[in-house]
Amino acid sequence: MAYRAEYIWIDGTEPTREVRSKTKILADGAEPGLWGFDGSSTNQATGDNSDVVLQPVFQCPDPIRGGDDILVLCETALTADLSPHPTNTRAAAREALEKYGDQEPWFGLEQEYTLLDPITGWPAGFPAGGFPAPQGPYYCGVGAVKIHGRELIEAHTTACMQAGLKISGTNAEVMPGQWEFQIGPADTVEVGDHLWMARYLLFRLAENYGVEVSIEAKPMKGDWNGAGMHTNFSTTAMREGYDAITAACEAMGAEGVPEKHLKGYGVGIEDRLTGAHETQRFDQFSYGVSDRGASIRIPWQVAQDGKGYIEDRRPNANADPYVVATLLTNTICSALA
Ligand code: ADP
Ligand code: MN
Ligand code: MN
Ligand code: MN
Repeated sequence: MAYRAEYIWIDGTEPTREVRSKTKILADGAEPGLWGFDGSSTNQATGDNSDVVLQPVFQCPDPIRGGDDILVLCETALTADLSPHPTNTRAAAREALEKYGDQEPWFGLEQEYTLLDPITGWPAGFPAGGFPAPQGPYYCGVGAVKIHGRELIEAHTTACMQAGLKISGTNAEVMPGQWEFQIGPADTVEVGDHLWMARYLLFRLAENYGVEVSIEAKPMKGDWNGAGMHTNFSTTAMREGYDAITAACEAMGAEGVPEKHLKGYGVGIEDRLTGAHETQRFDQFSYGVSDRGASIRIPWQVAQDGKGYIEDRRPNANADPYVVATLLTNTICSALA
């Protein structure tokens, strides 16, 4: 029987890229090949030269449709010569991995997000136009007063597992209506592929629940935690010894490096990295063991074992995982080479 391939790509929306998709019906036995779309409707082309090419790069079962149906993640390319479209950030991640793959970079991304009422834009668990009790009981909480949206989170986790994505966990977050899932460990390219697919599944499944998923970095101003994408990183050398852990932290703090990284860490970084709510200020760099107020945290277990990984706590929830992974790979692997 014919089957459906959902072609998924990342658009050119500024300042935060969004995921787009459309459906292709394929004959039994046919493989998903090149396709295209109207780039003038996604901020990726002008109307007089509107076609942008979709190149399949990663596919997995479609856990929502089931059967033989699949999800197909694509890179965007120019019609002229099939070179990467200027908005295609995966191409740089591929280059970084080609250059430093011998160091075996691994990532674990913690994607935080907030569930919103699609009409009012107010977070789940917040009374209409008002505020719930202050933060404290919600993180990893249980019970109907503290927890909102768990059914969607469970459905999303199941979907990611059925799709074969490297989802490694989920938890309720510090602000009501805020949640997290983690993808990893995976390399510089794969972590972005799986994270974008997991985002697609989350946004798509949320439609069924009449919920909007927001990856805005600071959806509620004031005394409410923002939403980040903590980035855990290691190389073979870091997984084998502590000198490489220290060298990686020093490389991340070298002159000009924090500023360069923050540019790729998502929109609204100053709003979220205030120095409060488990963050370091955006204009200061620090690293430390167990320190959730540092830019980079060395987990307690890593200090204990004398090897492992580091956690860059700065990337925003709305960051592009390909951009973040490319920055860390290039900065740390060039220093450790
Ligand atoms: P936190 O304690 O900061 O909440 P999480 O448990 O949410 O941390 O996320 C940690 C992430 O780091 C997971 O995705 C996990 O797979 C990943 N991870 C574990 N070990 C490594 C490693 N050596 N290198 C990179 N990522 C790792
Ligand atoms: Mn976490
Ligand atoms: Mn978290
Ligand atoms: Mn974390």
